Amino acid sequence: MTIFRFFNPTRIIFGAGSIQELDSVLKNDLQAVRPFLITDTSLRRSGLCDAVLSRTGDIPLFDAVEPNPRHTTVDAGGDIVREYKPDVILALGGGSVLDAAKGIALLATNPGFIADYEGRAKYTRAPLPVIAIPTTCGTGSEVTWVAVITHTGRRFKMSIKGPLLYPAAALVDPDLLKTLPASLIASTGLDALTHAVEAYTVRPATFFTDLYAREAIRLIFSHIEGAVADIGRNRADREGLMKGSLLAGMAFGNSDVGAVHCIAESVGSLYDMPHGTANSIFLPYIMEFNLPAAPDRFAAIARLAGIREDNGDAAARALLARIRELSRKLGIPSFKDSGILESDFPVIAQKSFENNSNPSNAREMTAADYLEILKRAYASS
Ligand code: NAD
Repeated sequence: MTIFRFFNPTRIIFGAGSIQELDSVLKNDLQAVRPFLITDTSLRRSGLCDAVLSRTGDIPLFDAVEPNPRHTTVDAGGDIVREYKPDVILALGGGSVLDAAKGIALLATNPGFIADYEGRAKYTRAPLPVIAIPTTCGTGSEVTWVAVITHTGRRFKMSIKGPLLYPAAALVDPDLLKTLPASLIASTGLDALTHAVEAYTVRPATFFTDLYAREAIRLIFSHIEGAVADIGRNRADREGLMKGSLLAGMAFGNSDVGAVHCIAESVGSLYDMPHGTANSIFLPYIMEFNLPAAPDRFAAIARLAGIREDNGDAAARALLARIRELSRKLGIPSFKDSGILESDFPVIAQKSFENNSNPSNAREMTAADYLEILKRAYASS
């Protein structure tokens, strides 16, 4: 007998202008009266935070979160909230801010440091509720149970996860993407595509997660180019891409990610490269390696991408070409131009192999396989 499970307790409020629902979520859904805001300096300076502060009034905030957030930053935020004692955490930003906020919410109610909670459900008390308000279109962190925090000493991206780490609510307002630079729309949009492709092809995929993954793939292929071309004017593309990112989060949150993420997280722990860029660089190479393990799935993805080719293998090959072309068009750097040093390949391969998601990959991968792919991808880029 095969048993399928699907779990997502996050209330989702989606749509242009949905940020205006914040008061109602605070008062009616969460009965919260003492919010604390987590964000980053550039979002505060750009005025995007006013979208929140105009609804909450003047509330205390922590804006020191950097991309690929560090364990020391989360610990510092934890000390501040322990003192202030809020009853809810508002998180406005990309995946880095949302993940840092999940970690800070955990430290608000539990002793010690964030590194003590690496792994699954290591907390003893429920973290504070988090209202996640994403401003990028990639990570899906607003609907996942994981916070990815970089341990700078170990040069490792820790996963801190557990059923109580799902945000209490996700306020997903595509209009918040209007200020996102084109390069970040491209890299975070391709991050979302990677989530959807991996969620659909990894071993733990189920018929539930397939529903979300397939629709996410269709939406992202349909809207990413229009969104990158002009996010401000192309409303349908803005909304379609944000929807795709959210659905991809629902998919991989209950399925998993695979080898692309294993490499991207390893690279992200060594280099301050945008997470989506790292995913985009490796996506076609890992897909090529995985093709023999799930040919029908890759052919299905090709059809969702609009490729009309009857032969499944030819469709999957056309898909790889399409993804390479899309990355090039959207300005994703080639592997050789990315700044990753060849001398780091062995350590990247080993870290990728040790990643928790490696066993989920469609095809079994050893550290030697990762090394071989890195070398081949570098030589052909
Ligand atoms: P990010 O949060 O690191 O943000 C990148 C940059 O974009 C920042 O400088 C930020 O200030 C800027 N920015 C964000 N929104 C903006 C806006 N609307 N206008 C202008 N500038 C804006 O990028 P990300 O790709 O969203 O997050 C990456 C992080 O998320 C990585 O650490 C990755 O490991 C993690 N991640 C988490 C999950 C999860 O489920 N928890 C999943 C995938 C990735």
